Amino acid sequence: MLLNFQSVADGKVVTVHYTLKNAAGEVIDSSEGNQPMVYIQGMGNLVPGFEKAVNGKRVGDDFAFEVSAEEGYGERDDEAVQAVPRSVFPKDLEILPGMQFGVTGPDGQPMPVWVGEVHEDSVILDMNHPLAGAVLFFSVRIMDIRDATRDEMAHGHAHGPGGHHH
Ligand code: ZN
Repeated sequence: MLLNFQSVADGKVVTVHYTLKNAAGEVIDSSEGNQPMVYIQGMGNLVPGFEKAVNGKRVGDDFAFEVSAEEGYGERDDEAVQAVPRSVFPKDLEILPGMQFGVTGPDGQPMPVWVGEVHEDSVILDMNHPLAGAVLFFSVRIMDIRDATRDEMAHGHAHGPGGHHH
């Protein structure tokens, strides 16, 4: 038997099962019934409030916490919304609210956008994350904690089962 006495800290590869609910109690995302999520703590891959709440926890810890919009996906920016002609999309592609596309940002960096309202001739694209402005309700179970390898730290993501494969 190998007991794991590690606790979550920056540079640890953490394996968690999680469920995310909104204020109405609806499940928005969950790993339950699927592979757990594997990430490196302290790399900014997850929202700040999540990493803060999980920091210092141990394998087997099972807990729930709230994350404010500020420490979650940020406040909504009503300016970060733009209408584009329907014709910029392929004709045979059905455009539905909530769909995600990639665009090139002002500095040439890739950015995600989400479809808001869809009109006959135009589509509203929203640069706000769909969960911007929302309080997030997480429940989390810590399944495993280990040190990140040098490669993982260099890449900024976990390798192996549940992580990246190259
Ligand atoms: Zn990698």
